[in-house]
Amino acid sequence: MDTEFLSLVTLRKEYYEVVAVNDVDLGIREGDIFGLVGPNGAGKTTLLRMLATALEPTAGRAVFRGKDIWDDPVSYRGVIGFMPDFFQLYDYLTTRETLLYFGLAHGLDRKTRTGRADEMLKVIGLEEKAHSLAKGLSRGMVQRLGLGRALIHRPKLLLLDEPASGLDPLARKQLFDVLREVNAQGTTIIISSHILGELSDVCNSVGIMHYGRFLAAGEMSEIVRKIMPKRRISLLLTTDPQAARTVLQSWPTASVEQVEGPRVRLLLEGTDAELARLNAALVAAGVGVALIEETRTGLEELYLAITERQGHAAAS
Ligand code: ATP
Repeated sequence: MDTEFLSLVTLRKEYYEVVAVNDVDLGIREGDIFGLVGPNGAGKTTLLRMLATALEPTAGRAVFRGKDIWDDPVSYRGVIGFMPDFFQLYDYLTTRETLLYFGLAHGLDRKTRTGRADEMLKVIGLEEKAHSLAKGLSRGMVQRLGLGRALIHRPKLLLLDEPASGLDPLARKQLFDVLREVNAQGTTIIISSHILGELSDVCNSVGIMHYGRFLAAGEMSEIVRKIMPKRRISLLLTTDPQAARTVLQSWPTASVEQVEGPRVRLLLEGTDAELARLNAALVAAGVGVALIEETRTGLEELYLAITERQGHAAAS
């Protein structure tokens, strides 16, 4: 993995006897949307706060574009945006004034911050609320304004601590749409969540954190392949499923999970070429295959598989 953009090198944080982040080594590539997932207490907030330079590590380093973030934290803060899990807005500033205020705090001149505030209102979908006071906004709007606030200076790296927590599905979708757009425009994103399924749609890479360590990290598809080599395949048949069952039962890399009417669900270990060979064998045996679908492995399932493996390793 290319680790030049952001590298964590044996990064550690202790709170007295609690090791919240335990000698973490990790690389984040430029352009990633990296999902930091793990249960409550895994160390996500501690890690993000260290990456935001809001908290000093006990040991280890975080290196951003070749420089330790603690060497010149002021310059580093100019190129990152941080949205903590809990943040306060000024109740009696309007949405637009909030953005202008944070633009000023980042040292943007009047013309730039006015332009950015108006552009940001569009990006976060709050143009109609430009002149509404922050105190009257819904939870989803507050989160989007928090995001706008973290983005006003066009950071290269955006750190988000549980931004979707407490949002309804529509508000979450709106937030994730903004994140995709911001990412497409060149901002690398690290986003945490303890609701594992929540991040599957938005992240291309993921780190699964447990008791301060990463149990697995990397590109989502790679992790899925490594941890769960068996692919879940569903076939829709136009002929009697019994013929398909006969082929599948003698196929060494396949196992039938369920047959329900014309649908056969199976687990298959192998590449697309293996799937194509199996399909050819089915067709050769006179099975009508109308549809082949692969069910994606959700983060939830992945997480359980990883933690189960950990359990087995510890027990043996
Ligand atoms: P959550 O999803 O609940 O926010 P998290 O994954 O963000 O959890 P952290 O908040 O980083 O986890 O906590 C990691 C560990 O460090 C936990 O055991 C927590 O109790 C402990 N911890 C966090 N902050 C402090 C602190 N200020 N003092 C002492 N212990 C702390």
